[in-house]
Amino acid sequence: MIVTIDGPAGSGKSTVARLLAERLGFRFLDSGALYRCVTLAAIERGVPLSDGAALGRLATGLRIAFGEGKTVLLDGVDVTTEIRSERVSTNVSEVASKAEVRSALTGLQRRCAEGADLVCEGRDMGTVIFPLADVKVYLDAAPQTRAERRRLELSARGEDVSVDVLVARMKERDRLDSSRETAPLRRADDQILVDTSGLTIDEVVDRLSGLVPPGR
Ligand code: C5P
Repeated sequence: MIVTIDGPAGSGKSTVARLLAERLGFRFLDSGALYRCVTLAAIERGVPLSDGAALGRLATGLRIAFGEGKTVLLDGVDVTTEIRSERVSTNVSEVASKAEVRSALTGLQRRCAEGADLVCEGRDMGTVIFPLADVKVYLDAAPQTRAERRRLELSARGEDVSVDVLVARMKERDRLDSSRETAPLRRADDQILVDTSGLTIDEVVDRLSGLVPPGR
């Protein structure tokens, strides 16, 4: 059983997908963390973010692993906090637009579903990585709501950025993610649209778990 959850930044994907996986007892894949790891490694190693071939080679050679809880390990180093910084967030869409990077990460993502039920979240989980998934969801929310959620998330980590700045950055990230040639963010006809704007996290998780056939 594979459940895919796609949607734009701040739609609540990460939080609800993780909780849904816990509730169902499924494995969980945060695919954005993979693109964030490649971006962080490229910045730190001075790989030009415009060079798709070099980024693809970099992505192929990285060891990315998920540890306990939300921990993400890059070549054995805990980068959980660093990959969520604005330095990475503002550059990740450029890196993720490169076909070489996307193909380097495809196998890793598909292997997550081997021998296990999976809840995964990202931009192209239902459209490209798992087109035959059992349940496909597209989560969305109003831009202001999404930016406010992001502001709270950053502020909890000591990064203070205004909602207006975040709305602008988010729109730019959406524009880049939706307009790229390879695996753009888009809602497909077979995805169930859930607007999370006025809903609490628990309400969204309830709604999503109701979409998964019983007995799983
Ligand atoms: O979900 P998150 O905000 O962590 O994703 C960071 C970025 O990674 C997105 O803005 C997008 O550019 C890229 N991404 C992607 N495909 C995915 C997941 C994330 O292109 N499946």
